[in-house]
Amino acid sequence: MSNLLLAPLFKHAPENYCCPFCQIVQRMENPADSSRLSDIVYQDKLVTALVASHQYPRNAPNIIVVPNAHYENIFDLPPELGSDIYRVAQQIAFALKRAYACDGISTRQHNEPTGSQDVWHFHLHVTPRFKNDGFYKNFYDKFLMTAEQRAAHAARVKKFLASPGASADLYDGKEFGV
Ligand SMILES: [Zn+2]
Repeated sequence: MSNLLLAPLFKHAPENYCCPFCQIVQRMENPADSSRLSDIVYQDKLVTALVASHQYPRNAPNIIVVPNAHYENIFDLPPELGSDIYRVAQQIAFALKRAYACDGISTRQHNEPTGSQDVWHFHLHVTPRFKNDGFYKNFYDKFLMTAEQRAAHAARVKKFLASPGASADLYDGKEFGV
């Protein structure tokens, strides 16, 4: 049996799942959902990137890159779309390096509940890392960042995405109250 025929067996979205990433890709703001249009840092025909609603205390802004079409996880994502997702993730990574002077970047992608997935639409996290940030020790200290703070981060990331040659402004986190 082909692997792709097995993919439906690994789906966990409930029936009639109202997908928050599909909503934001289609530029719909659902008051019950925490994502806002002002979270979006990049969008093209295939891929959208946004500031995640939930952030880690020492690793903001965690950026999420999603395919515009709904695929639940790595098992049903068309492999060629993976290269488009990484094309955007790489640009985000460069922008984060310049915008936040971070020491490293982690990309993470989770599948199925036991794989720590909690939104049933494929997404790749692009996370700035700092020396001694204890990221994996504090992995469950996520908090819902205010829409205003997320919009400020989105504006900063967009600015650095738009000007690849720009040198890093001095970043001390105070601008975002972190
Ligand atoms: Zn979706």
